Formats: sequence, structure tokens, C-alpha cells
Amino acid sequence: MIVAMAGGVGGAKLADGLARCIGTELTVIVNTGDDFEHLGLHISPDLDTVMYTLAGIANPATGWGIAGETWNTLEHVARLGGPDWFKLGDRDLATHILRTQRLRGGERLTDITAGLCSALGLPARVLPMSDDPVRTIVQSGADRYPFQDYFVRLKCAVPVTALHFEGVASARPSREVEAALTDPSLTAIVLCPSNPYLSIDPILAVPGMRLLIGKAGVPVVAVSPIIGGAAVKGPAAKIMAELGVTPSVTGIAEHYRGLIDGLMIDAVDADLAGGIEAMGIRVRTAPILMRTNEDRRKLAEECITFAMALAS
Ligand code: GDP
Ligand code: CA
Repeated sequence: MIVAMAGGVGGAKLADGLARCIGTELTVIVNTGDDFEHLGLHISPDLDTVMYTLAGIANPATGWGIAGETWNTLEHVARLGGPDWFKLGDRDLATHILRTQRLRGGERLTDITAGLCSALGLPARVLPMSDDPVRTIVQSGADRYPFQDYFVRLKCAVPVTALHFEGVASARPSREVEAALTDPSLTAIVLCPSNPYLSIDPILAVPGMRLLIGKAGVPVVAVSPIIGGAAVKGPAAKIMAELGVTPSVTGIAEHYRGLIDGLMIDAVDADLAGGIEAMGIRVRTAPILMRTNEDRRKLAEECITFAMALAS
């Protein structure tokens, strides 16, 4: 059993690699801090990205959304004067409609997600980090933006001065999350190369989560989302710089210090390994850029091998 923690596009790629290696022995705990209500629908962007990626139906060009999507509904929404800044494809809308209907019927997000995953034939288990609402708020000076406003509408154009996870103080890990992290057959925890600030931190901020990870007593391995001082995609490096952290694998190690036992970095960053090991974090160098499905599977194998080496 392996537990992986993931946000959307970057995290889903490694989660997919792990699923290709261990299938049903994988549980992915996914960020729900990006969730929001739009057009009356409950959208869980990271859950959907992980779900679609593991189901093999993700749009390969964007990493999010469904492959071969059509946009008739959104086009007509715009024609009728509605908002079209958040892209919702026709097929994708089916997910949001069903999820919203079931949430309104009083079901838990965890059960709804399990139902959607089983309909899509996923081998691995996908769990929202919590059934309680947590909403990421991006602070830029005196201004506060709901996450999707910052990420999609403003395209991350404002500098981040702080991040808040609204509602997190009263959120709890679901019993399924707790069960996965206390499972006696758990052998490793993998922090996928998701954005540490926007995707992994909300998961870690759920009260009890860090304690569960620590008490699991298994190696915790992270894969750096930063390669050669830059993010593969998205604002991770930009946010690190804005928060006064050097955007490098060293910055990632410092961020996860005390939580992780090992960090996987790319060969281009090998010269920084010594400094990271001096922090008490073991480093493994490997190709951590995932371009193909085979890259995902190989990186997942490397993570498992690394974790097993850390355990012995
Ligand atoms: P989001 O929720 O869709 O923004 O996605 P995540 O937070 O899960 O992933 C975004 C992060 O993934 C970014 O910081 C990227 O640098 C990182 N990322 C994307 N693709 C790769 C990859 O192939 N390898 C590595 N190491 N990181 C990646
Ligand atoms: Ca996300």
C-alpha cells in the first residue's frame, strides 16, 4: 500500500505512474482547496484532474479536462450573457452536475468521488483530503482572491504575499484518509510533484494530517516540482520568489523539512544534493520530468525503490 498526495496536473502524472505500477494498492489523497461553486455547480478541479488522468481520458495537451471535449454548453452560456472564463467542457459538465446533485442530496464528497471513480474503472482509490469545505484564498497585499479568481481569471498575475486555507481549522481528514494512513500494510507516502504552496500545503493543513503522516512510521518521499530553478508548469517558482524563498530544489527541501525523509531531484540540480542531505533529507537523482506515460511509470518505480531503500 502506498499513499500519494497530489494536486492537479503535476501530481496526477505521478499518481498515474504509481497506479501503473501498483494499481489497487494505491490511494491518492487529493487537494480540495481549489474547489468552488460556479454556475451553481460544485467543481473539484484537482479531484477531476486526478480522476480523468488515472482513467486515461485526460486531455493530453492541457493535462486537465477530458480528451476530445466539445464546448457547446459553455459557448451558449456566453451567448446568453453568462461567464465563460472558467472552461467547462460538455463531458466535464456531466461530472459537476452529478457531483452537485449528490452533494445536495447529502452525500459525502468521498463517497461521490468513489462512485465516479468506479464508473470510470479506476484501479486506485482517490480520496478528497477532507469532506469538510476548505477554500484556498490568495492574499496579495491588502487584496484577497478566491483561488480560481487568482489562478484562472487573473492568470496568477498578482504577487502572492500569503495563502489562507479558509475553513481548514474545523476540517478533519475523512475516516477513509485516516484509514489509509493507519493501514498496517502501508509502506510509503509519496508527495507528488504538485505545487507545494497551492496543492500540498492545503492537504497538510488539515488538522491531524501531519500527525497521521508522522505516526505512519513509513518513509515519506517527495518529488520536486522544481527542475533547474523553474517550475515545469504553473506559478510554483513565481510564488516561491514572491514569498522570499529561493525557487530551487533546496527551497523545496526547506519547505518540506521535518516531514519528508527523501527528495527526488533532477540531474541538473545534482550540485544542490549535498546541501539538502545536510538538512537530514536523503536525495535521489533521477529523470523527474514526465513527458510520456512511460516516464510516469519509471519515475513511480524510482520513488518506490527510493522509499524501500529509506525503510531499510
Ligand atoms: P495543478 O493543481 O493543476 O496546478 O497541479 P499540481 O499542483 O499538481 O502540479 C503543478 C506542479 O507540477 C508545478 O509546480 C509543476 O512544476 C509540476 N510539474 C508538472 N509536470 C511535472 C513533471 O513532469 N515533473 C515534475 N517534477 N514536476 C512537474
Ligand atoms: Ca489545483
